[in-house]
Amino acid sequence: MSRFVNQRVIITGAAAGLGQVIASAFAREGADIAVLDFQAADETRALVEQAGRRCQVFRCDVRDEHAVNEAVSAAARFFDQRVDVLVNNAGFNGHYNLVKDMPLAQWRETLDINLTGTMLVTRAVLPLMIAAKRGAIVTTASNVARRGLPLRADYVCSKWALLGLTQTLALENAEHGIRVNAVCPGPVEGERIKDVMAHHATKEGKSIEQVRREWEAAAPMNRFVTPEEVASTMMFLASTDSSAMTGQALNVTGGFLMT
Ligand code: NAD
Repeated sequence: MSRFVNQRVIITGAAAGLGQVIASAFAREGADIAVLDFQAADETRALVEQAGRRCQVFRCDVRDEHAVNEAVSAAARFFDQRVDVLVNNAGFNGHYNLVKDMPLAQWRETLDINLTGTMLVTRAVLPLMIAAKRGAIVTTASNVARRGLPLRADYVCSKWALLGLTQTLALENAEHGIRVNAVCPGPVEGERIKDVMAHHATKEGKSIEQVRREWEAAAPMNRFVTPEEVASTMMFLASTDSSAMTGQALNVTGGFLMT
């Protein structure tokens, strides 16, 4: 498929993990990519260029209003002032504390990255899409955007809030031809989930293998999902294949979530 030929796609948090796989998948379908990340993203750029597309990396911390505005302006210049797709993917695991023990600074840090960062990047990109009267925005939420999870209140609440932001943006921008949707992945195979399971194992007095088995068994498909499975759902939501969908959140969880 080549659904994104010559389209211009901004992806946050694409230096590593899921974002890197999403960047590479969009490039293979013809898109040029602007990465916004606070880390260097040489590997991502190489993957996009291997697919024959252009890629530039704009370093910024998504929490920093000024840096985000500068990075989006620079990405817009790279793209001749046109952005077809924004993927809000940058995210932080949060901390691992019961609410009764949660330092305010930890709570604020997670909300700042996951929620405020997404708002700031979206706010900076929207005028370009509004001027073009078209655009698609897709945000990486989580299965914990639809349920609670002990020890993870900061992360859980940041992801629930992203669904509220998604619906609000969808309502505000439908008249401008902009669709706004989200994806709610279950645990995704990769480095990050190993780290998350290790924290849960320590806090819950279990082995990492036990945590993994329990989380896998929670899904009828009895497995984690792959980054490619999340990326393909994002591309569906960013493409005209989903032209009648806005304000939606799609679960990619092996059946773990059904509503
Ligand atoms: P990751 O830690 O591998 O990658 C996160 C990326 O975001 C990195 O490139 C990092 O540099 C960037 N980033 C983090 N904070 C940033 C900031 N303040 N400013 C700019 N860039 C920043 O994580 P991942 O697993 O690839 O997760 C990607 C997204 O998917 C996140 O939003 C995460 O919450 C979500 N998610 C992941 C899983 C999973 O199991 N991995 C499950 C559900 C949802």
